[in-house]
Amino acid sequence: MDDQTLRLMSSLAVTAIRYSRSVSTAPHLDYDPANREAHKSAVIIRPEFQQRLLPFLSAAKSTLKSIPATTFIARQIETTKAVKKAVKLNPKSVLLVTLDSCRYDSFLAAHARRMNAIGPLHRAKAPANFTFGSHAAIFVGFTPGVPEVATPFVNPKFAKIFQMVEGGFAGHGPSFISLEGRNIIDGFRRKGFATFGTGAVAWFNPKSATGAVLSEGFDEFFFPGNMFSLEAQIGWAKLKIQEQEGRPIFLFLNIGETHVPYFFKGAPWDPGYNPCVPFGRNNDSDECRRRQIACIEYVDSHINDLLDLFAGNTVVLCADHGDCWGEDGVWEHGISHPKVFEVPLIFHLGTV
Ligand SMILES: [Zn+2]
Repeated sequence: MDDQTLRLMSSLAVTAIRYSRSVSTAPHLDYDPANREAHKSAVIIRPEFQQRLLPFLSAAKSTLKSIPATTFIARQIETTKAVKKAVKLNPKSVLLVTLDSCRYDSFLAAHARRMNAIGPLHRAKAPANFTFGSHAAIFVGFTPGVPEVATPFVNPKFAKIFQMVEGGFAGHGPSFISLEGRNIIDGFRRKGFATFGTGAVAWFNPKSATGAVLSEGFDEFFFPGNMFSLEAQIGWAKLKIQEQEGRPIFLFLNIGETHVPYFFKGAPWDPGYNPCVPFGRNNDSDECRRRQIACIEYVDSHINDLLDLFAGNTVVLCADHGDCWGEDGVWEHGISHPKVFEVPLIFHLGTV
């Protein structure tokens, strides 16, 4: 079995389990009867998710029939265990994740149990309307926030998670981490952290003059070359984490699957059709929503290992901006509209 098939099967198996709860329906897969518990959970699929799930399963139906899904689940679990066993992540290590272009309402509607387990979900406002501006702001401590509440870190004006010394208003309350330097990457490096980053969208392409701005300053940066590379990005990140021996890590991960055209590897739709084109005549808001929700759920099933590794550590997960899906005639992002600014924010603060 080649790696691509293995990844697809693994993804399908995890997807099936994620959707399997409470209501029994007819099995769609032939699973390994030797593992009854896995079999039981894998073939019980809530009716409301069946329609969404079926295209994923039919995409590899013939292959699935000959391969027990528990094999892939077991391999995923073993991989995580192996990394965990090999790594003693420094409790000060920090993970920053941006879901590119992810709307708050999409995130709320998605079945994203693992990401929601990080902490409470906030309906925040992004600091800018496009990738470069928002990340440039986030990288100097201006994380998305909720302006209506005087709550530290939820409202970064009140108190910042990452506060740059000399980085504007110091805040009403104490920051979580105070950093010196030209941005948080430099700041963490000065504190002795290993700094790793990976960005999927073109604004992180180190080979372009504009992309070099956001991707510079890290000890190492991985630009996969296309926006649908979450598995490769996480694989790279795990390797980088494994290479550290107790040294604190600052890891930045920008995820491209949630960006237009809303696609992930193995998704049962054509990425050649983009339902959200600025000033386009063939746009489809329902298709945008359906796709982005599915992409969020794909991310949720693949980011599990990474979030497990950082469990208890500081984790900040947000979108850099949202998208418009026809509101006021606006499509996509890069222009200041309330829907472009409305983003999910979830965080857990660990050890400083
Ligand atoms: Zn973006």
